[in-house]
Amino acid sequence: MVTIPEKPWPTGLAEDLEPLVRRVLAPNPSPYTFTGTQTYVVGAADGPDCAVIDPGPAEPEHLAAILAAVGNRRILAIMCTHTHRDHSPAAAPLAAATGAPIVGCAPLVLAVDGPRSDEAFDPTYAPDRVLLDGEGMRGTGWTLTAVATPGHTSNHLCFALEESGALFTGDHVMGWSTSVVIPPDGDMGDYMASLEKLMAREDRVYHSAHGPAIDKPRQLVRGMIGHRRQRENQILRLLGEAARPVGGFIPEMYKGLDERLIPAAEMSVTAHLLDLEKRGMAREDAGVWQPV
Ligand SMILES: [Zn+2]
Repeated sequence: MVTIPEKPWPTGLAEDLEPLVRRVLAPNPSPYTFTGTQTYVVGAADGPDCAVIDPGPAEPEHLAAILAAVGNRRILAIMCTHTHRDHSPAAAPLAAATGAPIVGCAPLVLAVDGPRSDEAFDPTYAPDRVLLDGEGMRGTGWTLTAVATPGHTSNHLCFALEESGALFTGDHVMGWSTSVVIPPDGDMGDYMASLEKLMAREDRVYHSAHGPAIDKPRQLVRGMIGHRRQRENQILRLLGEAARPVGGFIPEMYKGLDERLIPAAEMSVTAHLLDLEKRGMAREDAGVWQPV
């Protein structure tokens, strides 16, 4: 388990991480968000313009902190990596306050109804322009290019800052925890492919939406791929011992888990099982999973 650092965290303060990157922490800590959502302001602090990545929850206090971090610069784009409620709801009020366009991931349309299927999503998100893989935004001295990384959500994008070699990884790869993949929108096969996609890149550093900057990115991604393969092998081994419902995997796979995170662990196991089912290695019958 991760250890949450001691308070106080630098909520609302603008921290300069590198010449083109300023970070502002939102006041929304939780077992899912670590110390909270990190909003990034991209562009030279004394330049004429900037972009805001993942504006976060629509809390007046956080909006004020973003505007203070932006200063006199014009916001050319409010960019969202994905539409979970801790990432995109502040986009609309920030756009209303500044006139900046919302540019980035696609709005999410869920084809499947069911428990939890849209509770984590922000239905208010309405982009002015959707970026496809390889498309980007440019300002004075900065260029951000979208890197499509579905898996955590189907609409997830990372943004590459071409001038510095930084990649804004949203919730795809984070500095404090592995990403949660929740079906039906989250897809484990896509997530693994998106990790492999980052392995093929040469980014210098990752700035994720939660947790510290990652300065050995490929090492971390390699570890995450290994971790998921290990989880998959554990599931196959447990399936081989006995058919069981999703809940029957948790005690062995997640020893000592904070009980508030059990639903997330069950979702993650489900995501693996659905992926194994797609690959013809597991099947479900009346809520009980068995090997094929
Ligand atoms: Zn998320």
